[in-house]
Amino acid sequence: MNAPKKTSCCHTNNTGDTQATDGDSVICTPVAAPTVPISRLDTLWFQVAGTICNLRCHHCFISCTPENDTFKFLSLETVRRYLEESVPLGVKEFYFTGGEPFANPGMCDILAETVQYGPATILTNATLLRQKTLDRLKAINDSTPHTIEIRVSIDGYSPELNDPIRGEGSFESAMTGVENLVARGFLPIITITRTWCGKDDEVLAGFVEILRARGYEQPRIKILPLLHLGAEENRSRSYTDCERVTHEMMEDHDTSEFLCASARIVTDKGVWVCPILIDSDNARMGDTLADAMTEYPLRHNACFTCYMNGAICSNSTTSANISPMPK
Ligand code: SF4
Ligand code: SF4
Repeated sequence: MNAPKKTSCCHTNNTGDTQATDGDSVICTPVAAPTVPISRLDTLWFQVAGTICNLRCHHCFISCTPENDTFKFLSLETVRRYLEESVPLGVKEFYFTGGEPFANPGMCDILAETVQYGPATILTNATLLRQKTLDRLKAINDSTPHTIEIRVSIDGYSPELNDPIRGEGSFESAMTGVENLVARGFLPIITITRTWCGKDDEVLAGFVEILRARGYEQPRIKILPLLHLGAEENRSRSYTDCERVTHEMMEDHDTSEFLCASARIVTDKGVWVCPILIDSDNARMGDTLADAMTEYPLRHNACFTCYMNGAICSNSTTSANISPMPK
């Protein structure tokens, strides 16, 4: 069993300064945030669809919409350049996210190229998976020794629960996508963001029941914590000043648990520290992967979510999160 995590108290303000009380007054002492070193690059992410998505989910932590082209699609040429850069760095696997990866018309060509270098995971809302795309995915999967994982985001086990967050018709469209993936031999990881209060059991049971009814017998399910960034700040709340990683919290904490200890993300504007912080200019690490191999300070409130939950973006945060459910 994991030891309980230390949490920050309300002694940090919004700038990361430490506040000490002295009678009635508050004394602020600037303190640098703890840093996470990067000794190896295991995982390379691609912001392949930029911030462009066919949906406009109310909890999207980078506020993706059909109109948001703050970050643009990656081209095959750009991906190829970074794949080549990744070889001497020993990258073991690749992830594609957005926005909606399949909104990028080059996604399948990019995937076909990438699996020549290693296993790949695509994070998708599964609402743009047309027959031609599905057939191409199967052909690529059949032709490579490397694993292709598809992660499908759905946030409720019925239209009534899902569509208020992800948009009208998105539940049915995503479930059809899941059915079509399963029919082609994929075992998609259903990724649910914890937008509910209370225990997970009822939600998991609801998902298992509906997925089995749609032909997915042993569904793999991953629950993600909310990130209080982007659109989610309007839907629920922003981070509080207390939600911050302090030096005290990092005592005895294994820094390898953070995604940024072994991953970076490529965008059309350069390399960022992680997929969570692409809206932060100070999370840009440089133009090349080599530029990005430096430690990073955990100065963002979202780092607190990583501290509490581990490498939330990866496929394998905990074995409990991705598991075949008992029948
Ligand atoms: S959460 Fe995913 S599917 Fe929804 S708008 Fe953001 S990128 Fe698109
Ligand atoms: S948000 Fe998470 S992955 Fe990104 S820098 Fe902070 S701790 Fe690292």
